[in-house]
Amino acid sequence: MQLKIYNSLAGEKEIFKPILEGNVGMYVCGPTVYSNVHLGNVRTFLSFDFIYRSLTHLGYKVRYVRNITDAGHLTDDGDVNNDRFVKQTRLEKLEPMEIVQKYTVDFHKVLDMFNLLPPNIEPTATGHIVEQIELTQKLIETGFAYESNGSVYFDVLEYNARGLNYGELSKRNIEELFANTRDLDGQGEKKNPQDFALWKKASLAHIMRWNSPWGEGFPGWHLECTAMSTKYLGETFDIHGGGMDLKFPHHECEIAQGKACNGASPVNYWMHANMLTMNSQRMSKSTGNYILPMQLVSGENDFFEKPFHPAIVRFCFLQAHYRSVLDISNDAMLASEKGFSRLMEALKILNSITPNDEKRSGFSLEDWKTKAYDALTDDFNSPVLIAHLFEAVKFIFALKDEKESISAKDLEDLRSTLNAFVFDVLGLQNIEENNNEKLDQTLQVLIELRNQARRSKNFDLSDQIRDKLLAEGIELKDGREGTTYSIS
Ligand code: AMP
Ligand code: ZN
Repeated sequence: MQLKIYNSLAGEKEIFKPILEGNVGMYVCGPTVYSNVHLGNVRTFLSFDFIYRSLTHLGYKVRYVRNITDAGHLTDDGDVNNDRFVKQTRLEKLEPMEIVQKYTVDFHKVLDMFNLLPPNIEPTATGHIVEQIELTQKLIETGFAYESNGSVYFDVLEYNARGLNYGELSKRNIEELFANTRDLDGQGEKKNPQDFALWKKASLAHIMRWNSPWGEGFPGWHLECTAMSTKYLGETFDIHGGGMDLKFPHHECEIAQGKACNGASPVNYWMHANMLTMNSQRMSKSTGNYILPMQLVSGENDFFEKPFHPAIVRFCFLQAHYRSVLDISNDAMLASEKGFSRLMEALKILNSITPNDEKRSGFSLEDWKTKAYDALTDDFNSPVLIAHLFEAVKFIFALKDEKESISAKDLEDLRSTLNAFVFDVLGLQNIEENNNEKLDQTLQVLIELRNQARRSKNFDLSDQIRDKLLAEGIELKDGREGTTYSIS
């Protein structure tokens, strides 16, 4: 089985060859933790969670690194008042690191809700200032960067003069870039408008600042990813991912920094996830066209007619390929909910099917598995994979109606393969089972409270608990092994 990955750098699908056989180093740009992540951000992280799960399922040992951007990086106009962290600290009257902590916790909670696996390493920009200063020094020493008024910039023209190609990822031509740029960021400090900051001098208003050979300042955004990816994955590693919008300038600059520092291309496969849109427009906080994950899950919003479980949102996202735009809508969510229920019902039915060797089946398990794995290894094509899963669903319903049959061996194989695709690879969760688990936990709490009431001879309360549960159809039975319950 050959895995094909669409490499944004090559502009085509390529056969994946890891640097070290059986191992994958993968870096994904993480969030800037100055406010809550919106649903669009979640889509990108979920796309890479699916890719991570798929790689693992295919047998690779993956080292997955996803950073947290917790140091301020300026907006385009270079004005400290527009720094997203600085703005938020003023708005919320909090210290920068309080903002960072608050939104990092929120980010983790949200991703957990959608059943994303944690990365193997989650480094922070502020935890790698030393590495970023070292890289900046190295770039100055090798002539790829220059200091100007306490800031340090990467010299894009020098990079190209040495036969390297700034613009290779975003397919931009440097002359065009020069023609279309206004020099706002550097405020006259830069040699050329396309030069980008490796280190920025901190003005008095800038609270997050560190000492450096060039005075007090803070690192440039692009540099943090180069510092952290190469520290944990090596000077050249297998996969680098992020949202489409990060291709330029962020990833373009990472390539330039990596090549200038180490003389080698930092990444073998660049992967870019496409955007989530709502009302056919890109979801973004700055335009106000966004929804927070909790608003969708709780139903507290004006856009969706009802709340949707995170597992259904996840299923909806995976019904689009990671490189396609996905427009989220009420109808799309309702359709996903229907599909999700049918899939879960089929899994339940599969557990109660009795094998039967006598009749021949029109469904070839081997062919089905081949098609499903072909989809997965064809640049992680989740919608095609899901379409194949539904062929199995159709077959399972036919088994239930005794229109089809399956041998014991095939039944076992179908169960384990389907469960692996649904739960391990797609990362879906069985809502019903989860609810049962919650109910059990809640009843154990009530049983314990009733026991406490009885021990303290508060029989009024203990009887009340028993009677009220009984009225809800839950009967408590006291035995030698303790209290058990049955639900009618
Ligand atoms: P940020 O915290 O702004 O750096 O964004 C975190 C990630 O979310 C980046 O990889 C962005 O590319 C991605 N992102 C931002 N907006 C969207 C969107 N509407 N749909 C999908 N991904 C997005
Ligand atoms: Zn990055």
